[in-house]
Amino acid sequence: MTTAASITTHYEHFLSLLTRDAHGPARTPAAADSRDTVHARYGERVDPSGGTQPIVLTRDEWIRNQIDLTLALDRLLTEDDVVVSAVPYELSFIGAEVDRVIEMVGASVISVGTSGTICPMPRLLGLIEQYEVTALVCSPRFAAELAGLAESLGKRPQDTAIRRIICVGEVSSAERLDRIGTTWAARTCALYGTPTAPTVAVTCEQGALHLCDHRLRAEVRGGWRGELLLDGIPTGEAVELCPADHRCDCGSTSPVLVPLGSMTSAVRGPDGLVTALDVERIVFGHGRLAPHFVCVLRDDTFHVTCAVPDPRAVDVGALRRAVRGGIGEALGVEAEVTVVGVQDWSTATS
Ligand SMILES: [Zn+2]
Repeated sequence: MTTAASITTHYEHFLSLLTRDAHGPARTPAAADSRDTVHARYGERVDPSGGTQPIVLTRDEWIRNQIDLTLALDRLLTEDDVVVSAVPYELSFIGAEVDRVIEMVGASVISVGTSGTICPMPRLLGLIEQYEVTALVCSPRFAAELAGLAESLGKRPQDTAIRRIICVGEVSSAERLDRIGTTWAARTCALYGTPTAPTVAVTCEQGALHLCDHRLRAEVRGGWRGELLLDGIPTGEAVELCPADHRCDCGSTSPVLVPLGSMTSAVRGPDGLVTALDVERIVFGHGRLAPHFVCVLRDDTFHVTCAVPDPRAVDVGALRRAVRGGIGEALGVEAEVTVVGVQDWSTATS
C-alpha cells in the first residue's frame, strides 16, 4: 500500500518525540516519568455493580494506542475509503481514537456514534447510499441490525458500496462475523480493546487478533483461559491467550488473543469457565439463523435471543429446542432461548 511507508515513518517520528527531549538526547528517567504522567483524556467505565469509574489515559498511552490501531487499519483501508464510525463517543476513548486513526490512514470519516439521536439508523442508511460508504466500524450487533433495517425497507445491503466491516466493542464468534459478511457482501474483521486500553489486540491478514505485546504485558489468571490481566491489573474481561510457541500463519510472533466477553457474563461450568462467546459458537452452529444475536447472563442462566430471516419457513419451536439442547449438551449450563423473525427483532430485544 502506498501510504504504509509514510505512516510508519510518521509514527516512528512520533515515538521518538515521546521517548526523547525536544533538544535531542534520550530523556532522563525522571523526565520520562513526568511525561508519562501527563493526562491526556478522561473516560469512564461501568464496574460489575453497575456504577461508573473514572479512567484517565496519559498522553503517552493515548498516542501509543492510536499508533497501533493506525498501523493495523492501514492494512485494511486506503485513501479512497469512506468510513462510517458508529462506535461510542461519549466518555469513552474508542470514538475519538477511530476518528484520528481513519484520518491518519488518509480515508474520509463520517462519525455517527451510537446514540441514535442525530443520526438514527434510517438516516445512516441514506448517508451510506449518498456518499457511497465503503467501510463500517461498529459492533457486530449494529452491523446485523442495520442490515435487517435495510432489508425491511426493501433495500439489499449487499448492493451498497460497503466492502469492509471492522467490528469493535463487542466480542463475536467467527461464525457470526462470517454471517454478517455474507449479509453485506463485505469482508469482516475484529479489533479488541478494554475500557482502560482502547487498543489491546489487532487483526492480522489471517483474521487472528495479536496482542500489542511491545506495549502491554498480558497474563491470564489461572492458566491460558480466564480473566485477562494487563500489566498485572485485572481487566474484568475473559480471554484465551494462546501459548507462546503457537505460531499464527501470518508469521507474527505476538501472542494470539481470543476475547470471550466480560467476566460478569461468564459462569463456572462442569469443565471450567463458560462465557457468552462459548454459547454463541454453539448457537451459530445452526445454519438457518440471521446474524442477529444477544446473550445476557441472569441468575446463572444464559438468556439468548436470535433470529431467522423468515419464521414461516422454519419450525421455530423445534429450532429453539435444538439450540437450547445443544448449549446444555456441549457446555453443561442452563440457557433460555428465544427465536424471532428478523422483522420482530427490535421489539424482542428492546
Ligand atoms: Zn496472525
